[in-house]
Amino acid sequence: MARINDNFLKLKAGYLFPEIGRRVTAFTTANPDKAAKLIRCGIGDVTEPIPAAAAQAMHDGIDEQTNRDTFHGYGPEQGYGFLREAIAENAYAGLNISADEIFVSDGSKCDSGNILDILGQGNVIAVTDPVYPVYVDTNVMIGNTGEGDADGRYEGLVYLSCTAENDFVPAIPTEKVDVIYLCYPNNPTGAAATREQLTEWVKYAKENDAIIMYDAAYEAFIQDENVPRSIFEIEGAHECAMEFRSFSKNGGFTGLRCGYIAIPDALTGAAADGSRVSIKQLWSRRTSTKFNGASYPIQKGAAALFSPEGKAQVSALIEHYMANASLLRTACQEAGLTVYGGENAPYVWVACPEGVTSWDMFDKMLNDASVVITPGSGFGAAGEGFFRISAFNSKANVEEVCRRIKEIF
Ligand SMILES: *Cc1c(COP(=O)(O)O)cnc(C)c1O
Repeated sequence: MARINDNFLKLKAGYLFPEIGRRVTAFTTANPDKAAKLIRCGIGDVTEPIPAAAAQAMHDGIDEQTNRDTFHGYGPEQGYGFLREAIAENAYAGLNISADEIFVSDGSKCDSGNILDILGQGNVIAVTDPVYPVYVDTNVMIGNTGEGDADGRYEGLVYLSCTAENDFVPAIPTEKVDVIYLCYPNNPTGAAATREQLTEWVKYAKENDAIIMYDAAYEAFIQDENVPRSIFEIEGAHECAMEFRSFSKNGGFTGLRCGYIAIPDALTGAAADGSRVSIKQLWSRRTSTKFNGASYPIQKGAAALFSPEGKAQVSALIEHYMANASLLRTACQEAGLTVYGGENAPYVWVACPEGVTSWDMFDKMLNDASVVITPGSGFGAAGEGFFRISAFNSKANVEEVCRRIKEIF
């Protein structure tokens, strides 16, 4: 008898995006005349073409594969030296992270799930509410939780509420936890964490011998010079944090797949006998066994994002999306709505009018404006009463969404 991993049976059926799909289909079926007008501001995926520098480097990388003299077979599992060095020199300039502390992958979603391979059983895990669902579901799959309740909260996880009162950065927990997932700039709230807030978290992690899993996938969208771009800007973070980054959102690589984790030498965890073990060494070992490296042309393309042309083209992409975010913020404010986020992140997090639920708002935007947004309650109980508008779109679509928002409020 082949037994399955029973933990999978605890997972709630993917509710949010299937339910959005169901309501959108019902709407377009009932209103075929409006189907063509529909604008999707729901999904967290980029829309604009990749930088030309990356495209050229990938073309060159493919050409190399067609010639015996320049052909590349399996590469280093942890990533090519040229990319790890480019990341260390550019993304971590002055932050004391070296190329051998960087592990290149096929994306951050995979990394943030796979990392649980090297952590033990029995850790107390803290996640924010609202949350990027990957952190929760991967912990359910590996057996770090009990059953889920009707609200989708799992027994055994510590949920840290992110509210307007705490600027969507959770208060330090009163209990002891072992692992904390933080994502700033945040998906879905669009909030950024300040230096002071991150300093408090690093202090907590060090005092409690906890590890911070810092997801900085949206680092490139930070506009405010005072907002830290990396957890490693905070003193002491090298001993208590690892950082997940991705080329998906800055370089438009969602369909190409490349990301990385930075794991400092100083980061350790405890073995059963209490001895300290290097997290980097464990991850390197895990990577050699379960991964054969990201694709060579893709790594070439990623490295090109750090060339002078690549950097300028990435900046132009970020400017495009952040201009969209700014338009959406203003339109919602002018419509009398209370708006958060969208200043250092491509997501605008909007409070529903008093007494209106996230799903009510979803239906109103769909039925009255033919615009698809994401209901905040889909990211966790504390997201109720909010909705997320994504700035990942063309400018023309965003301008049209703004016009419709003003019309319906
Ligand atoms: C988009 C996103 C990522 C990036 O995921 P990839 O697998 O690298 O595409 C990581 N974290 C969050 C919170 C995201 O929204």
